[in-house]
Order: sequence, then structure tokens, then C-alpha cells
Amino acid sequence: DDLSQVAGELTSDRLLGGLLSPNFTRRSCLSRYQSISYRKSSRHEPSSYLISRLREYERLHKRCGPYAESYKKSIKEMVSGRIDSSSACRYVVWVAKCGLGNRMLSITSAFLYALLTNRVLLIYEEADMANVFCEPFPDTTWLLPKDFPFNYRLSRFKQKYAKSFGNTLKNNNNKISVSTEQLPSHLYLYLSHDYSHHDKLFFCDQDQIVLRNIPWLIIKSDVYFLPSLFLMPSFEEELSKLFPDKETVFHHLGRYLFHPSNQVWTLITSYYKKYLAEAEERIGIQIRIFDKKTSPFQQVMDQILTCTFKEKLLPQVDMGKSIVAPSGKGKSKAVLLTSLIPSYYEKLKDMYLKHPTLNGEVINVYQPSHEEKQRSTNNVHNQKALAEINLLSMMDVLVTSAWSTFGYVAQGLAGKKPLILYKIEDKKIPNPVCGRAVSLEPCFHSPPIYDCKAKREVDTATIVPYLRHCEDIHWGIKLF
Ligand code: GDP
Repeated sequence: DDLSQVAGELTSDRLLGGLLSPNFTRRSCLSRYQSISYRKSSRHEPSSYLISRLREYERLHKRCGPYAESYKKSIKEMVSGRIDSSSACRYVVWVAKCGLGNRMLSITSAFLYALLTNRVLLIYEEADMANVFCEPFPDTTWLLPKDFPFNYRLSRFKQKYAKSFGNTLKNNNNKISVSTEQLPSHLYLYLSHDYSHHDKLFFCDQDQIVLRNIPWLIIKSDVYFLPSLFLMPSFEEELSKLFPDKETVFHHLGRYLFHPSNQVWTLITSYYKKYLAEAEERIGIQIRIFDKKTSPFQQVMDQILTCTFKEKLLPQVDMGKSIVAPSGKGKSKAVLLTSLIPSYYEKLKDMYLKHPTLNGEVINVYQPSHEEKQRSTNNVHNQKALAEINLLSMMDVLVTSAWSTFGYVAQGLAGKKPLILYKIEDKKIPNPVCGRAVSLEPCFHSPPIYDCKAKREVDTATIVPYLRHCEDIHWGIKLF
């Protein structure tokens, strides 16, 4: 059967319509070509132009990546501060911040930026990210080598860092240097949710002209800043060729970049086979509570039930009756509930264990882990998070929590528009309680609102026909 197939033919399906390179040994990363056996094949084809640009990128990464001659040369130049303008390799170094969902979204944004500007993306990996993902590019690595000259500065780099792009502009009359001969060999860019007006000038074409000639850009980011690249005239033509269908950007790039390591893949496949494989229908429910005080247990529970009953995902139960023996007659549905805490799972599981459903369906509820708290600097915690994001992405239907990048990644990998449980404000259940997402795309929570040409604030959701405000955060923007 499909699930036990380890070394199947590398059909177009297995390569996700040409998105993946066939040039990997399969054992090194089982998930890369096996995911298709668990996640339904996508209805969305990548454009042939995207495919050819990815293959081109892979060649560039191999030529310029760590340990290659041109990499060594570029490092030497960076240390000496003397840039040889003939050197062909330029880089984006990505530095982490926040949880895994945020990380995956900002890595994807940095990758698209690298693709658009012919740079090589390198990941500054700390111990908490070890063995979470496979290498995405063949015959090379995307991990920044440990002997990178400014390694010690990378994790400490904050918004206030005086030598960042934003602060240099702020303190230097909006200029990076007095002349092009004096361009720095490397520059820090702060693109996280609490960035300043000057940091955001990154999204202006005129500033990109300066950045173009700086070999090393070091980006610290925790947001999906990718939608704002779609507002820059200089990238417009290329982006329309890469992505004729704008709502599939993360769907394609996410499935291209993020393959769970063999360790995480074992967690995923063993859980799936044990609990989920047999069901006739699988429903993923992702519950993310940002603040227990404003989102009390009972209100959230009511919201989950109201939404899933109304949308006919789950059946109501007869509270007056108790189950004597399992009926086993109706359709069987598995519910995969993910959350940091166990109480929602316990309540839902008990309800279906103790009472018969009104329509005879048999509902089994599962929760893989309850880690209690976000601990993003813990390696095993991050591995479990990726396992659960992937399990969610294998479900037939998704219900996600508003505001959560964890849910966005699951929906994007799945290629499914989820039902979003809208945010509970001031302990009040929203009306409607949930609604269908307008597109597969994640929401950019902190978009710039500056019109670079007019030099004034604008509503960036009204400029192009494929960007709008998000359903769950009204000031955010998303592609659709
Ligand atoms: P967001 O904060 O919801 O946008 O998502 P992030 O992924 O950026 O950060 C939340 C982090 O908390 C995750 O990366 C996990 O480490 C942890 N977390 C949150 N919800 C869950 C869950 O349902 N299961 C697991 N295993 N971890 C979770």
C-alpha cells in the first residue's frame, strides 16, 4: 500500500508537480518524497517558471554556498571590508526570533527575497533548531557555518543595534554611506514585528538599489513579510511570472523548503498510522490561546462546538443518554486536536466517549502532546511542534485559531482554506464564531503602511487587486 512504500518511483506527484528536485538520496530525508502518501495531492500546480527558477537557485546555492571557493572568497572580503565588485555571490543570512510558525513564515519570506535578488539564503541555526528540518537544496547546505566571522553578534542583534540598516538611515540623513565606494560589506536588517519606520524603508525600491551592492545582508525576522514584496514595482513583473496564482505562494514555497527531518518524520508517520489512518474522515482543530484571561476555557469550548456543529463537521450528542456499547455503525471521524493545554481535548473526548451522537457517527478525539507552555528555545519542543503542524496539514478539514502562524503554516502546507475561529475579545464569543479563510495564504501581521513614492501613509491593502486585509487581523494584509 501507499503508506509502506518507501522507494516508489519519483513520479511527478512525488516531486509535487516538479517543485522538488529529484537530486537527493531518499534515505537522507524520507519525508521529502513520502509526504504525498499522507497529504492529499495539491490542486495547485506550480508555474513552469517557478520550477525553472528553483532549479536555477539550486545551482547558485551550490556554487556560492558554504565551503565553496566563492563562499570562502566572500567571507575573506567581508572580514577585510574590501568588496571586490566582480565577486558574483551575494547572501541573505536569516536569524531566528519567536516560535516555529513565525520562523517558517519569515524564512519563506527571506527565501523569496533571495530568489528575487539572486542571493543565497543561509540559516543561522541555534541548537533549538537542530534536526527539525532536512536540507532543502541538493548537494550543499543552507546552514551558516559555525565559523562565520560575526556569529557571536547574530543572536544578540536587536532593533536598537546602531549599525542596522534602519538606524544607519535614521542617523545618517537617510543614506547608507556617502559614496558607493564606501558601501559596507555587510548590513543588518531588522524586519520583526516591532520594527521602526526606518527599518521598513527596506520595502522601498530606491533603498533596494543601495542594498543590491552589499554582499551580505543579515535579516532578523519573525514575520511573514513576503506580501509586502508584492507591492514593490521592481519585483512586480518577476512575481507575476513566478506566481500567476497569488494565493499559492506559501503553499508552493513552504512545501519546497520545509521537509521534516527523519526524526520528526518518524513521530509524524507513527502517530498517523496508529490513530488517524483508519478513519473515514479526519478533522484537524488547532487551538491557540494567547491570553487565558481574555479567552476563558468555557467561552473557547462553546466557540469550538458552535462552529463545528454549525459547519456540520462534528455531530451533536444526546446528553440524556450514555453509551453502553460502541455503536460502530455510522461514519467514523478522527479529530486531531492540537493545543499547548489538554483541557479542550479532554472535554471533547469525554463528550463523545460518554454520549451517543445524534447521527450515529463515531467520533474519536486525539491530541499528540500538551506542552503547557511555548518553549521555542527547546529542541525537542520544536520537533513536536513541527510534527503537529504537519499532522494538521494531512487532515481533510481544518479549523484554526485566529492570529496563529502555527495554523497558517498548517493550512498553507495542506493547501486548504481553514475555518478560522475568530478571536475572542473581552471574554465575548464573536458573532459569527468562525468563518472560511478567503485564501490559503498566511497573514502579514505588521505590514508597512508607507507609500515610498508619495512619502505618506497609505492603506497597503487597497493598492493591488491581489492584496487585502486579513479575516482575523483587520490591520494585517494577505495575498488572495
Ligand atoms: P503562534 O504563536 O501561534 O503564531 O505560532 P508559533 O509557532 O510562532 O509559536 C507558538 C509556539 O508554541 C509553537 O512553535 C510551539 O512551540 C508552541 N505551540 C503552540 N501551539 C502548539 C500546539 O498545538 N502543539 C505544540 N506541540 N506546540 C504548540
